[in-house]
Amino acid sequence: MNIFRRPTARFAVQVALPALLIVAAAIFAGQLILSDMAREVDRSETRSIERSVNAALNSFLQRLQDTHGDYAVWDDAVAKLYGKIDPDFVSTNLQDSTRQAILFDTVYLLDENDRTVFGYSRGQPALRNAGSEFGTALDAMVLKVRGRSSPYDSVTGFVEDQSGDIYALAVGSVLPSSTKMAPPLGKPRLLVLGRALDSAALARISREFVLDGLILSRHPDASSPNGLKITDPSGREIGMLSWASPREGYAAFRRVLPTAYLAVGLVCLTMLFLMAIGYFNLVELRKREQQAVYAANHDELTGLPNRSALGRALGAAVETRQRDGSAVGLVYLDLDGFKEVNDTYGHESGDYLLRHVANGFADICEGIGFLARVGGDEFAIVLDSPETVKRAAEISDRLVRFLDDPVALNGRFVQIGTSIGVALADDEAIGAEELLRRADVAMYLAKEFGRNRVAFYDPSIDAARAERMRLADQLREALKEDRLAVVYQPIFDAATMQPSGVEALVRWLHPEIGLVPPDIFVPIAEESGLIDQIGSFVMKRACRDALDWPGVRLSVNVSPVQFRNPAFDSILAAQLSEIGFPPERLEIEMTETHLVANPERAQSIIASLRARGVAVSLDDFGTGYSSIGYLRRFSFDKLKLDRSLVIGITTDERARELCEATIAIARALDLKVTAEGVETEREAAVLRQAGCDFLQGYAFARPMSAEAAGSFLHSTVPQAVALPWSR
Ligand code: C2E
Ligand code: CA
Ligand code: CA
Repeated sequence: MNIFRRPTARFAVQVALPALLIVAAAIFAGQLILSDMAREVDRSETRSIERSVNAALNSFLQRLQDTHGDYAVWDDAVAKLYGKIDPDFVSTNLQDSTRQAILFDTVYLLDENDRTVFGYSRGQPALRNAGSEFGTALDAMVLKVRGRSSPYDSVTGFVEDQSGDIYALAVGSVLPSSTKMAPPLGKPRLLVLGRALDSAALARISREFVLDGLILSRHPDASSPNGLKITDPSGREIGMLSWASPREGYAAFRRVLPTAYLAVGLVCLTMLFLMAIGYFNLVELRKREQQAVYAANHDELTGLPNRSALGRALGAAVETRQRDGSAVGLVYLDLDGFKEVNDTYGHESGDYLLRHVANGFADICEGIGFLARVGGDEFAIVLDSPETVKRAAEISDRLVRFLDDPVALNGRFVQIGTSIGVALADDEAIGAEELLRRADVAMYLAKEFGRNRVAFYDPSIDAARAERMRLADQLREALKEDRLAVVYQPIFDAATMQPSGVEALVRWLHPEIGLVPPDIFVPIAEESGLIDQIGSFVMKRACRDALDWPGVRLSVNVSPVQFRNPAFDSILAAQLSEIGFPPERLEIEMTETHLVANPERAQSIIASLRARGVAVSLDDFGTGYSSIGYLRRFSFDKLKLDRSLVIGITTDERARELCEATIAIARALDLKVTAEGVETEREAAVLRQAGCDFLQGYAFARPMSAEAAGSFLHSTVPQAVALPWSR
């Protein structure tokens, strides 16, 4: 199964996953940007601190250089420091200053040959000469000063002393400040002023330049990111001034991070909320869609697949068959007697019965075929297995047997049956529609055989059907063009052998075929809805004809289909009064079919006909289901023994006994008995002996035209003694 069919999976893949990825990407990008900004802030701050520290060191040197200018470019200094040194001058101006250590803490005087004349450090005479105290760095500074074009320019720089302390040094010539004094001849002496870069100096720098946490390390640490290297004039790295890493950006980053996370969290929550709504909508939509699909494919009453589902299942089965050659069968059935139950007991009972049948059928078809309710009381089963023919026969049999059991309905038992048609798709050309049609045709054939029958489709059915359809069309035309006729067969009183009545029998004079017997065209008329018209025609024509034969009873055959018309009784009454035919002379011949299909209605119709004075006889007795129970239940006036009961009574002992027994039963029930199809004298004798009241048959008279009947009746009445069989 495709996982995308499941809403959860589809939703996860199409909505939730992308949404989560977007959120994750947004969080990642946001964090990246923020931390990048923080780093950039920190970097630029580092650069600005670096500039400040640089400026602070330069200003430290500058201050020393300014002080140097004050002390070295001075007329008094020239006077006191060249030639013989004035110890008082040195003591008050230089030595004391080194003790106070405000402007400088170290002083040296170098002579014309750069040798140390004197030196003081922090008020004390220097322990070493300047050269050994400050090494090559000082040499380089001295060299620079000596090399300068202007003798007034001093040189400054940071150097390392013997013990490794870092000093700022200013080296420059001792020269007169005024023009009153001539500059010394030859190379000038050099004054060296030094100021240790100690903690006090650092504190001052920090204060003045607002720099926190400055640390001086003697040996430059290359790994420290924040630091300014201090190099001496000879280019040697002697120390490093470092400071704590600026963390402003980072701190800001840390500060905004919770807010950012909160915002992201809110976005996520909103998204989650929207996704949840989306998900539930999707699920709901899916559910409704499924319900709609179910409703579109299922029958509401029974829950079985409906006609359109059947169409699809059948289409699919036929398609598979065309591919792999398996056989597809379609079993089509319709319930016999359902309509009557529905009409008699109401729709609720009908619905109950349908559900009961649907459940039973579903059990039978489980795992074997696809069962659908096609509509009304029609069902269909699609079978596709290698043994379709066998399966179809088996299933049909089981369906019929299931309906054998009466169904309890509101305290009564009803019995219905079914007519089953089966068709097989055993040819490439047979599509779903054709298969449906064939099964339907077969079902109608099964119906014609009587209830609880199964018919398999056969092409000859189609031919027969086509022929019947053609006949139905022609019959319609014949009705219009008055090519139907009514003939009359006299019925004789067995006691007197006088004709006491006639049976009206319809005929069709077909222009090509000739006389079409009613056995053929009456069923067609019943099927095509022409029977009402034909029945009316026969009734009216017979009554009109019989008006001329006073005292003769008229028997008219009425089809069960005509009795289904609830207005049958009132139509008949209207016809009789229109023609003026006395109802007492009329006898309706009714077959059992109607009684069995709809006993209650039959009973009421018989009652109302008899109430009008019309007699009712049961035709074709002995061919169907009629039991004594039936006969008691319906209040007939007469029974007509079927010809099949008469055949053989003169040759076959048992046939005679059966016939006699049947007549005895009828007499016991107080019914008159007519024997029809009496073809010989001897049959007539046996029948009279057995107690038949009336006789009808070729032995006495064949059916004849109204004219012929008229003269037959007139001629026979006076010659009562001339018995017909004596002819
Ligand atoms: P049915 O009601 O049993 O009518 C008797 C049939 O037996 C008639 O056939 C009649 O000609 C035939 N018959 C009479 N005596 C003999 C005999 O001695 N030997 C033999 N072999 N046959 C005999 P028909 O006229 O062909 O009618 C056949 C059936 O058609 C009738 O059977 C009846 O069921 C039906 N039918 C005829 N006319 C009408 C009609 O007007 N309306 C309706 N609904 N059905 C009709
Ligand atoms: Ca009859
Ligand atoms: Ca009959």
